[in-house]
Amino acid sequence: MNSLCEDCGACCQFNGHIELDAGHHIPDQFATADRLDGAPEGHCPAYNPANKLCRIYEIRPLVCQQFVVDGAACNYARGVVYGS
Ligand code: SF4
Ligand code: SF4
Repeated sequence: MNSLCEDCGACCQFNGHIELDAGHHIPDQFATADRLDGAPEGHCPAYNPANKLCRIYEIRPLVCQQFVVDGAACNYARGVVYGS
């Protein structure tokens, strides 16, 4: 994990949904057939707010694996969540 991500998780705290890759192995408790929908609390259902970590990090969706740390979307997420 990039050091910038430690104690952050801002990018995982937005409601919405993530389209999943065909053949994914994400457990049903987190995903429907083809997507991760936002939890009622507003964050990704696989996000653990207690430790700010992803519960399925090793098998997280491709879009999460390809998310650019310190990129525009990362900086936007941190700005919205932490104001920085
Ligand atoms: S918002 Fe950026 S720094 Fe924070 S966890 Fe996501 S990728 Fe890492
Ligand atoms: S699957 Fe994991 S890395 Fe991707 S948004 Fe959800 S909690 Fe974050």
